[in-house]
Amino acid sequence: MKKRIGIIGSGVAGLQLAYSLKNEFDVTVLHHEDPEDIRQGRVRSTQVHFHPALDRAQRFQMPDMDAAPSIQTIHVSLGPQKLFVGQLTGPARSVDQRLTFSAGMADLSQQGVPFRKARVQAHEIDALAEAFDLLIDATGKAGPLLPFPVEKELTPFQTPQRKCIVGYFTGVSPVEPTGVSITIIPGAGEMFEIPALTENGPVTILFIEAVPDGPLDAFKGIKTAEAFEERMRTIVEDSFPGIAGRIQPDAFGLVDEGAYLQTAVTPVIRKPYVIHNSKLIVGCGDSVFLADPITGQGCNTASYCAEQLLETLLASKESPWDEQVGMAYWSRVRPYLTAVTEWTNAMTGPLPEHVVHILMQAASSQEAANQVAHWFENPPAAHAAFFNKQPS
Ligand SMILES: Cc1cc2nc3c(=O)[nH]c(=O)nc-3n(C[C@H](O)[C@H](O)[C@H](O)COP(=O)(O)OP(=O)(O)OC[C@H]3O[C@@H](n4cnc5c(N)ncnc54)[C@H](O)[C@@H]3O)c2cc1C
Repeated sequence: MKKRIGIIGSGVAGLQLAYSLKNEFDVTVLHHEDPEDIRQGRVRSTQVHFHPALDRAQRFQMPDMDAAPSIQTIHVSLGPQKLFVGQLTGPARSVDQRLTFSAGMADLSQQGVPFRKARVQAHEIDALAEAFDLLIDATGKAGPLLPFPVEKELTPFQTPQRKCIVGYFTGVSPVEPTGVSITIIPGAGEMFEIPALTENGPVTILFIEAVPDGPLDAFKGIKTAEAFEERMRTIVEDSFPGIAGRIQPDAFGLVDEGAYLQTAVTPVIRKPYVIHNSKLIVGCGDSVFLADPITGQGCNTASYCAEQLLETLLASKESPWDEQVGMAYWSRVRPYLTAVTEWTNAMTGPLPEHVVHILMQAASSQEAANQVAHWFENPPAAHAAFFNKQPS
């Protein structure tokens, strides 16, 4: 008999796990929304998947994202000054999670993976742990449902370091060559422009990472799409002349009523396994590895860790799933997790002088510019550059 796995949450981690585990194991997904609720709901992320995550999606035969704009480059500006355009080693893509999540759930259901509609509560864990050989908490930043222990040395902050303000807009011509554009305003925050695909066609996502209470933290109290649109127009005109110059005033607007988001994340890294009533329960994705989105790594980390969890479970397919298995999973992901977390946390503070020097060097050397772009595809390289170590 196949071992039974219950996956709680069908976001980035939950879906990749369901696709990759379904042939070897008896998988059930527990999720509280129907695909249609998700499609018609609010945006959740800016979800740039760099090529390693896209390669995994392809390997696990997940619905492809090929129709989305092909993100080839990273543009970096300091205030109004364009510094450089670095080339990625493979295309990245951003597809509205309302589309990918609803499509993935419908496709898995069609392939016979059972979905149980439930917002799982902590008091239900005992019964669920009993019903499955393994429970995976993939509840995202709403989670976790289990007391996975906090890793204090990777969790330095008690409060969010940025306010995240996101709108999916039409009427903003993308940067050329197609890429993610980052404008840094020291002390105030960053603006990311991301070409993406939604159900209603291509958009440019404008994503502000505002230092709390700074000049870009200007969306407090905004509750309607109309007010959000107007505030974004004003901020862009006042602080981002490069973007303002690419706006077509008559076409500028949110792509739909649900296409905006305001949130803030307190980063926290947890050891991703516990023994509960003698059963192993593991976490994957934001429920245990939660980072500020400033480096655009959350989906990519969730995808990486979901694959490492798959490998761990396959390696112990015939043996009991116990604490050793939890430890093996944690040992596999810990080096990558440390790199991505320390790099991301460093990006929310003032940039170290030697990193500013690297960025300035990239302004006059295409090779250096490409190396900076590569950080986003390969966080250990970014970590090495920030902390002066060789990439692991
Ligand atoms: C503003 C913003 C921008 C971002 N931009 C990027 C980016 O460009 N690139 C990138 O890689 N990452 C980005 N991220 C991070 C990325 O979105 C997350 O890291 C990623 O979605 C995490 O995947 P996950 O599967 O852990 O959680 P999710 O994708 O959030 O999925 C978890 C799912 O579980 C469901 N759930 C929660 N609780 C329960 C429960 N009790 N029972 C059943 N279901 C439950 C939730 O509704 C959700 O659908 C961004 C995040 C934010 C906030």
